Amino acid sequence: MLSIQTIAWMAIGLLALSHWMQVYKIWKHHEVRDLSAGTYAFLLIGYLILAFKATSDYLFGASEWFWIARQCASIIPVTIVLFQIIKYKRERWHDDSDPFCKNCKNELEPDWKYCPFCSYWAEEEELP
Ligand SMILES: [Zn+2]
Repeated sequence: MLSIQTIAWMAIGLLALSHWMQVYKIWKHHEVRDLSAGTYAFLLIGYLILAFKATSDYLFGASEWFWIARQCASIIPVTIVLFQIIKYKRERWHDDSDPFCKNCKNELEPDWKYCPFCSYWAEEEELP
């Protein structure tokens, strides 16, 4: 049987790992199109408030130090993601196998049926 302390450490690890996985994915592809800077800003503000609360509780002897560590484990990667979103917001993922719109020549995702740039419907040509 896992203790509540062990489960809390597992949660810290999983939360931090999920944020670091996002950092790695952005670092690898420079793709931030689908990420919201606002979402990460709110996450960061929330984690900072919780870190302040954890520090306050720890100083007054009301909680353990690991709750401060938990917040820092999330604050660091969330801050990095926020800066990555700002840094890479103009870049686009490029894949050599992606098709291009026959009308406006912009790069499309493989499963897109119509062009989001010019509204050209790729399947129109296949209609009888
Ligand atoms: Zn197009």
